[in-house]
Amino acid sequence: MYALEVTGLRKTYGNGVEALKGISLTVDEGDFFALLGPNGAGKSTTFKMLCGLLKPTSGNASIVGHDLRHAPSAAKVQLGYMAQKFSLYGLLSVMQNLAFFSGIYGLRKALRRERIDEMIETFELQRYLGRSPNELPLGYKQRLALACSLMHRPPVLFLDEPTSGVDPITRREFWMHINALVRRGVTVLVTTHFMDEAEYCDRVALMYQARLIALDTPDKLKERAATTDCPSPTMEDAFIRLIEVADADGRAAA
Ligand code: ADP
Repeated sequence: MYALEVTGLRKTYGNGVEALKGISLTVDEGDFFALLGPNGAGKSTTFKMLCGLLKPTSGNASIVGHDLRHAPSAAKVQLGYMAQKFSLYGLLSVMQNLAFFSGIYGLRKALRRERIDEMIETFELQRYLGRSPNELPLGYKQRLALACSLMHRPPVLFLDEPTSGVDPITRREFWMHINALVRRGVTVLVTTHFMDEAEYCDRVALMYQARLIALDTPDKLKERAATTDCPSPTMEDAFIRLIEVADADGRAAA
């Protein structure tokens, strides 16, 4: 079974913007998968639809075999979602945020207490429990957002630009937490525009202008982009080259 299976997913917003022109892909269980692409490529739109926050214009997806259209509740409990702007509640304390999110994910009584304690310990949140998330150093804010999305132990985790605006040390620490999850078999999908982050991943889907233009391992993507002038491209070279090829193909088709 796939952790994620996406078929012909399309989205046209009310203002007529075609944010996604039909993408299909599969992600194996336990994969560490990146969606890479320039701003406006359609990455967030894709994620929001996969999390059930946005209705596709057409197409469908299933999460660990649960169809998003026909069994949205069953599909949604399979995933944890960490949004770009960390959707934490500033009016609630850190502890109240943990309690709130554990409630959303349906955890009750002893299990709820147990998971909250586990998150406090794993992410070392003890000394901030009474504070508002707004007062936390960015690294801790990020840990709290991750803790909130993991409380129900989802087999699939979506991270939307998790390290935008984060300093390099915090960024490294964040990836250590994520790598630990990947080692435990959690499937992780991340959107990023950092090339080094994409290189850590097992497979990278490159999105450009609402389409998927390449999907492969980082090494294979680099191989595909090799030219006589640039025989050993970096991930960034490969990214630019594959976009140039997509542009040239688009012009040829027009
Ligand atoms: P990315 O995450 O790759 O930067 P997005 O999915 O945010 O891309 O955006 C894809 C396209 O859809 C962009 O042209 C963006 O302006 C447009 N878009 C995103 N959200 C909305 C919305 N709510 N209404 C109308 N257009 C939108």
